[in-house]
Amino acid sequence: METPKKHCSHCKTEKTRDQFGWQDHERGVYRESCMECDANAESIFGIENDYEARRAARLFREFGLTPSDEEAMLCNQNNCCASCRKRTLEKRLVVDYCQETQTVRGLLCPTCHSTVGQIGMDISVMQNALDYLRSSQAA
Ligand SMILES: [Zn+2]
Ligand SMILES: [Zn+2]
Repeated sequence: METPKKHCSHCKTEKTRDQFGWQDHERGVYRESCMECDANAESIFGIENDYEARRAARLFREFGLTPSDEEAMLCNQNNCCASCRKRTLEKRLVVDYCQETQTVRGLLCPTCHSTVGQIGMDISVMQNALDYLRSSQAA
């Protein structure tokens, strides 16, 4: 039987499946980019600055996000945090990744990112906190 092939989303080369790492092993989902591109992530974006290059490479490995994906998301959010909607002075927002659905939810300011992280998937905790704050305001 022939080994199934797959197109790398970055080098656009058709390679055999074993040239791709796992995005999610349990669900049998392969990464969109080949191992070679993943290993060269620092250089494929052609970023000179070391810090930016490392950051871009990390986002790409962890979330499959390229700098232009990030740029587009930021543009969609009007350069604001997706949660508090405040325009941030931080040059970079934090990527909020949902482990449950394996998708990037949005870009958040560091404050919201840690808040969301603490609340996690339990929205009722947030609701209780809101009720608590509202009741103390009313008193
Ligand atoms: Zn590739
Ligand atoms: Zn925020």
